[in-house]
Amino acid sequence: MSLPIKLISTDFDGTIFAESDTPAISMELLGLIARLQARGAKWVINTGRDMVSLQAALVRIGQPVRPDFLVLVEREMHAHDGMRFVGINPWNEECHRAHRDLFVRVMPDLPRLTGWIKARFSATVYEDPYSPLCLIAANNGDADLIHEYLEGYCGGVSDLTLVRNDVYARFSHAGYNKGTALEEITRRLGLTAAEVFAAGDHLNDLPMLSRRYAHWLASPHNAVQSVKQAVLSQHGCVSRFPASRGVAEALLLFLRQTGVEL
Ligand SMILES: [Mg+2]
Repeated sequence: MSLPIKLISTDFDGTIFAESDTPAISMELLGLIARLQARGAKWVINTGRDMVSLQAALVRIGQPVRPDFLVLVEREMHAHDGMRFVGINPWNEECHRAHRDLFVRVMPDLPRLTGWIKARFSATVYEDPYSPLCLIAANNGDADLIHEYLEGYCGGVSDLTLVRNDVYARFSHAGYNKGTALEEITRRLGLTAAEVFAAGDHLNDLPMLSRRYAHWLASPHNAVQSVKQAVLSQHGCVSRFPASRGVAEALLLFLRQTGVEL
């Protein structure tokens, strides 16, 4: 029997990875995904982490974790070629070019934006290779207020958006996010959104938690309220369990609904 789910897209932190748990990703989920991969399904870890940060976390897990694709920094794509992860072009090149051109337009306003934040909050503001304005707020209340201010600014700059995950945020190009990256992987595999599962727990997952990109939507119990609402409003599954146990429960539920036994 052909699998109804042929591409599994999971966020990492909080969705499948819980640092305080041992193991940090449950064997239940890793085993389930491995069985689906053995039947032809592909797995993408769709995360805001960069390559070094993600690989360091995967090494620490101490169990085999073998995604077929990575979406990093919510936008750059890599595929495993059997030996190692290699960047997918022209997507990554076009993504890099689009961000470079966008951030040139934003540069003149950065001192004003940074000044506004620093005058009111004890937030850390910095640039990194992916964004000229990155932020770590002291708490989620501060992050909400800064988010509101920066979203107001983004409204006046075409293609600019703020990607938020907990107390972290960064400027990014609105055309490149977890959803559009998932759409491109789906297209490259010759699949449709009807065959895609997506699971996430925070605001930066909302772009991929859409029926436009994935028919099968899920969030673990620990997801933020707006994510749970988005999933439920599209007939997805909000699990009773946190993180990887929750994702495993949702995957199994969907497979059973479609008559698949593993
Ligand atoms: Mg997360």
